[in-house]
Amino acid sequence: MHAAGMIRGQQGLQHFDQPPPNMRQPEEVLIRVKEVGLDGTDHGIVSRGTPDIMEDADRMVLGHEVVGVVQQVGAEVTSLSPGDAVALTVRRGCGICHPCLHNQSDMCMTGLFTERGIHQLDGFLTEYVVDQEQYAVRIPPELTRLAVFTEPLSIVEKAIDQIRIIQSRLPWTCPHPEHSFQSREWGGCKTALVVGAGPLGLLGAALIRLSTARTFVADILPDDSARARLVRKLGAHYIDARGKAAEDIIAACDTQAAGLNLILEASGAAETAVRLIPHMSRSSIYVMTGIPRGELAMQLDAGELVRQVVRYNQVVVGSVNSNRTHFEKALGDLGEVNSRFDGLLNDMITHRFSLDDCHKAFELTASGRIKSIIEVDPWD
Ligand SMILES: [Zn+2]
Repeated sequence: MHAAGMIRGQQGLQHFDQPPPNMRQPEEVLIRVKEVGLDGTDHGIVSRGTPDIMEDADRMVLGHEVVGVVQQVGAEVTSLSPGDAVALTVRRGCGICHPCLHNQSDMCMTGLFTERGIHQLDGFLTEYVVDQEQYAVRIPPELTRLAVFTEPLSIVEKAIDQIRIIQSRLPWTCPHPEHSFQSREWGGCKTALVVGAGPLGLLGAALIRLSTARTFVADILPDDSARARLVRKLGAHYIDARGKAAEDIIAACDTQAAGLNLILEASGAAETAVRLIPHMSRSSIYVMTGIPRGELAMQLDAGELVRQVVRYNQVVVGSVNSNRTHFEKALGDLGEVNSRFDGLLNDMITHRFSLDDCHKAFELTASGRIKSIIEVDPWD
């Protein structure tokens, strides 16, 4: 069986053969991989060349955004049948902490979790995979062709969930307080800034745009770039942040005197991420999802920063990974995101490769790609 990933001691994505997986437990399912999406994490693993391989293994299959079709189910599987399309969650809990024991391994307290295709466990850039029923989320038939976006959308669903939970501290900002968790008009968000117009930034902006919030999206690409065009397709405003300091980005947001209620950081640009904090408005929330690489020393006025965060009741929160409930929310929003924004998800796919050619996806420049899809077994 063909697979692609990293081999210890070798640079770049490698192709290799490995035996097909066997079902060993009655709660497992065998899945034919259909499509795998690539993201910045995959590109980072390949470019850094230091994959996080299990200690007793010499290789790790890459890929963590997957849609596949169930081939076979174990005797104790009740919610899935052969022929069902499924997306698989990524993180496998530590088995020790309360969150992991209650289906919230995205909030693991020990850090002893593993992640398929990222952290010690084989991923999905291969032909067949076996996993437990609890990690396989059934895809409604009408969504199978969009379902490769379930995992990335689940990441921003979790981030938005965090915002809703935290900003429920402002119950008067919601038109129907009793429905504050269902309402699109959450947390009193009138003006939002999304930093980064990569897949997560675009999907985050799309979820924000399902509300009526005015949304600005900043990235270091020109106004006529594909990403800027997709931002405008969302009804959001694009800011070309090349050469701009944080205060210039804020100045480019027409906040109509009310200030920014929400900042969603999805670029991993550490200095910009921190320099935006002083521009938060009262009771606002700032969610960071981008993970910077390397070290960055910078000077800032810590006294002013702490004074501001305290006096203005501000929240800066990090959000990583997602759990099954966020996958289910993503499936609830996938169709609407694509139809309301006129084929946004289809337009985000800039490249498609076969499994044999998937190494070519890693030769693309960051500015030339948005989302690459590896068609392991193309849909009919
Ligand atoms: Zn845990």
